[in-house]
This record gives sequence, structure tokens and C-alpha cells, in this order.
Amino acid sequence: MKYRSIAIDGPSGAGKSTLAKRLAQELGFLYVDTGAIYRTVGLAARRRGIDPAAGEIVAAMLPELDIAMGYGPDGLQHMFLNGEDVTAAIRENDVSACASKVAAISEVRDFLMEMQRRTAREHDVIMDGRDIGTVVLPGADLKIFLTAAPEARAERRYKELLERGQQAEFDQVLREVIERDRRDGSRKTAPLRQAEDAELVDTTGLDLEESFWRLLGLIRDRLGVKEENA
Ligand code: C5P
Repeated sequence: MKYRSIAIDGPSGAGKSTLAKRLAQELGFLYVDTGAIYRTVGLAARRRGIDPAAGEIVAAMLPELDIAMGYGPDGLQHMFLNGEDVTAAIRENDVSACASKVAAISEVRDFLMEMQRRTAREHDVIMDGRDIGTVVLPGADLKIFLTAAPEARAERRYKELLERGQQAEFDQVLREVIERDRRDGSRKTAPLRQAEDAELVDTTGLDLEESFWRLLGLIRDRLGVKEENA
């Protein structure tokens, strides 16, 4: 059986994960957050006191890592690092920068590739990330490049951190967003870029509800998915 795949790529804060999660629920697809996988490697480096940008040292750590992805009864994706559920730990703010640093290392990307492709071979997926349409699933049935202005993305991220009870300053969050964009877009291996055959959706002036309906319309149109479900 051929499963269907939808790739959603774009910079952080464009709304990818929130929207992809809801779309997956609506369509009966599996939602795969690939950023969570890179975050797990970033967390492993941080816990070992390894500089996440030190390619050779991070690469040498990889064989010692057992990274697994699972889905709880709630249907949500959980990440496991050597058997420990690290789903909450990988969301801490400073893990974001570690993740984007380890993600620039080609050995890390190769190490995580098969896990992502296997998931898409075994399920209907909506997979979000940075290189899904360009590298991981170049044959995806639909590719969406979701973006928004850096200020709009920083504003969303800032609110999210406050809602989680974490300390944040808007200017700092904006600087981090811009820095992460720069790193993700300029790295040599699998930089963030729009696939030639991807649909561009800019959510700057849209709220989540509007973005959701826009994307759902696009998916139904392109994949021929019916209202009731696939
Ligand atoms: O999506 P999220 O912000 O959780 O991803 C964390 C980091 O992981 C990103 O900044 C990016 O550097 C990296 N990443 C990646 N390729 C992916 C998904 C995430 O390089 N497919």
C-alpha cells in the first residue's frame, strides 16, 4: 500500500507544528515533528557538556544514542533518549539553539534520516521540518513552505514561552529567531529553502484558524482528500 505524505517546511515560528498537528488529526494522518528529533540530539549534547557545534565530537557521540519516537494514547509524539521520555525536556528554550547547531552537522542528519523515511513508508504522514520536501521526502505528494515575517514569528514564540511560565524578553526572542533563521538557511548540509515544487503559504497576517483553513483547503484540493476523511 502506498501511503501519502505531506511535507511542511519553513522557519521556526511559522506555525508548522500547531497547524500540522491539527491537520493530521483532521485527515487521520500521523503527525511527525522532525525538529523534536534534532532537539533530542541537542539535548544529549548539552547533558554531556559537549559543544553542540563541535562536529567531530558530536558525531562520535551518536553511536551511543538510542533515539526513538513513539505515540502515546493521546496520539501525541513522544521522544525517547536511551529509554527516557524527554518530550518535555527538549522544549526548554536553550535546547532550541543546541538543536539548530547539531542539525548543521552532516553526520547528525544522516543518522536521523532513515528514521524519518521509515515513518513515511509505514504511515500517511504530515511531516514538518526544514528539509522534508527538499531532502527527506523529495517525492512527497504535497509540499508546503510555511513562513511569516520574523517579527510575527518572534511574537508567537514569545507568547508561547510566557504561557509555559518561562521567562522571556521579546527583543531577545526576536534576535534568537533571526539567528536561528540565519543558521538554518546558511548551513552547507540541507539548508532551509523552499522546494521548487512547494506551495508557499505566508501566515504573517493570518491567525491560526485562518491558516488552518487555508492549508486544509490546499491539501483537500491537491490530494483529493474528502471532507469525512481519507
Ligand atoms: O522545528 P524546531 O524548531 O523544533 O527544530 C529545532 C531545530 O532543528 C531547528 O532550528 C533546525 O535547526 C533543526 N531542524 C532541522 N531539520 C529539520 C527539523 C529541524 O535542521 N527537519
